[in-house]
Amino acid sequence: MGHVIGIDLGTTYSCVAYLEGGRPLVIPNLEGLPTTPSVVSFTDSGERLVGTLAMRQAVTNPANTFFAVKRLIGQKFKSPQIQEALNRLPYKLREAANGDVAVLLGDKSLSPPEISSMVLSYLKSCAESFFGEPVTEAVITVPAHFNDAQRQATKDAATISGLNVQRVINEPTAAGLAYGLDAKTNGLAAVYDLGGGTFDITILEFSDGVFNVLATNGDSYLGGEDFDNRILEWLAASFRAETKIDLGADKLALQRVKEAAEKAKRELSFTAETEINLPFISSDSSSSKHIRKNLSRQTFEAMTADLVERTVPRIEQALADAKLTPDRIDHVILVGGQTRMPLVKERVTAFFGRKPEEKVNPDEIVALGAAIQSGILDGQVRDLVLLLDVTPFALGIETEDDGYEMIIDRNTTIPTRKVKAFTTVEHNQRRVRIHVLQGEGFLASMNKSLAVFELVGIEPAPAGVPQIDVTFEINADGLARVSAKDKETGREQKVEVRPSSGLSPAEVEEMRKRQAGKQQIKLGPNG
Ligand code: AMP
Repeated sequence: MGHVIGIDLGTTYSCVAYLEGGRPLVIPNLEGLPTTPSVVSFTDSGERLVGTLAMRQAVTNPANTFFAVKRLIGQKFKSPQIQEALNRLPYKLREAANGDVAVLLGDKSLSPPEISSMVLSYLKSCAESFFGEPVTEAVITVPAHFNDAQRQATKDAATISGLNVQRVINEPTAAGLAYGLDAKTNGLAAVYDLGGGTFDITILEFSDGVFNVLATNGDSYLGGEDFDNRILEWLAASFRAETKIDLGADKLALQRVKEAAEKAKRELSFTAETEINLPFISSDSSSSKHIRKNLSRQTFEAMTADLVERTVPRIEQALADAKLTPDRIDHVILVGGQTRMPLVKERVTAFFGRKPEEKVNPDEIVALGAAIQSGILDGQVRDLVLLLDVTPFALGIETEDDGYEMIIDRNTTIPTRKVKAFTTVEHNQRRVRIHVLQGEGFLASMNKSLAVFELVGIEPAPAGVPQIDVTFEINADGLARVSAKDKETGREQKVEVRPSSGLSPAEVEEMRKRQAGKQQIKLGPNG
């Protein structure tokens, strides 16, 4: 078998790694950089750009530049997350025939997995040019809070890009793996992940090479971009005050300010003050206008302290779920580029009463962990054998009168299998409707609908007599399957449930073929 790659498909940046002699290493992208913006853009001439080139189009070509697609993957158009995203995103979304969200490119609509597959195709091609041979196998990471539909959609994206997914693992678990391989220590760890667009906190227990995720929490609308925006707003407001010019109307200028804001933010992680210099950013009838401002770390911290503070209740909740207190945590692992900000490190240190580990690069740690997981699967890594994860959500089914019966609790270790017996409500009821829900609300209507299916052919019997076993299974990838069996009649009838949204296998295959045609990597005779 050829090389197996580990992929961290991030909201803002992605990273790919592999295992060399038992050690994980990052594969540079075609520009020689360790991480690649998760952005896809289509130019007027129909050219497809991925990564840095695509990111540069974000403001000049906003309608056709797709970023943060990870927020859309596996989501219904009508979900609150998408309704909120509608107002934030400069590109257009619409409802697909199956109720999923779709992205508009001209008059065509693209599914989020299809767009994510273009980022994955690019990463795959980086690995192929690095190794000089085709790469088909991958381990891919997802946020710990991703539900079944989001995990399945991520897998679909990989399949469309021509990758076979050996395992889907949670990002914090991957970080724990990358960290743990070096440390070989036992104890409890908190993985604090503040990336470009999302925040996650996970409590892990590791002992003698066994990883167990105890609890997970997060905020999918909190990340590095919010910090950039604070600087951007500050610059735009002071420019408006000085010149009466609103930069919001000038997309090109805004793009420059946005890039300068992010650069300043990064610099302030290492220096006490930085200068933001944007000559000829605008003009009025009298003269050209420039931005030249100094920003101190202190001012920047005052602008963003509330963002850092928003992570704290999430940590508290995760600890409460794990029935732990901060002083019990032995290792604090930082993930995501935004954790380089000194204020973030200080707040995390103050919360846990211990300094976070800094020996693994926070941008790369997840991809490195995915590469280690690939080594565990193919036997290259032998001292870490078992990986236990948890499901981030409770799952159950609807019962009579909008009731809800929880079958799998939140933070249950996976893989897991639970069976619960149900019965009929009416005499001679021949069929039962199984409505699979996610959540912890005590009424069915308070939870999120995942799938509906029917078990038919139940033998006529008085109400309450038939016994129907409903089985919930969650595999190691965190994907759920629900089945029902009529026990009373002895006749086995098992129904597998699929997420009520997502792409059909035929659609995935069609998209894969389309991608394969576009993403041929040409190799010379020697490799
Ligand atoms: P990730 O998605 O984990 O790669 O995180 C990317 C986020 O980290 C982006 O918002 C970056 O602007 C941010 N970031 C990268 N380097 C730094 C740094 N030195 N200081 C502060 N934020 C950074």
